Amino acid sequence: MNDNDHVYQVKQKIDGSEHQIAGRDINNQYIEEPLSSGNPNAIECRSCGKLISRKATVCPRCGHDFVAEYMAVQEKGRREWEDTKAYIGIALIVTIFGAVQITSRTRLDFTESLILMVILLGCLWYGWIWLSVQYETWLARRKKR
Ligand SMILES: [Zn+2]
Repeated sequence: MNDNDHVYQVKQKIDGSEHQIAGRDINNQYIEEPLSSGNPNAIECRSCGKLISRKATVCPRCGHDFVAEYMAVQEKGRREWEDTKAYIGIALIVTIFGAVQITSRTRLDFTESLILMVILLGCLWYGWIWLSVQYETWLARRKKR
């Protein structure tokens, strides 16, 4: 039993005809004790680690809300994809704008200018990642003291 299986189970419940979000109180059934690790319906709660029913949408031990967690993960993924799209868009605009500038100011043709811009942006991006890693390492060292 892994986390993905549980997310899948939760998704099934959200998408299913029973509509667990609306009727969570009624449908949030879990198998009462004893739940042994050999029980195929038992999974470990990701929050408290206790054995609970895989059908539970809320952990009866610690109150961890799996549906809310699933929704939050979905929302986070959606936002990250929006950010990624924005970065790709900016990178494309900068590449093309830069290539046009280089073409008009040097003897390079547009294709050569494009390649030059891609190399330049690649170096900048790599440098930025390198700097972020250095900064995080520095922060982590500072926290240890
Ligand atoms: Zn729990």
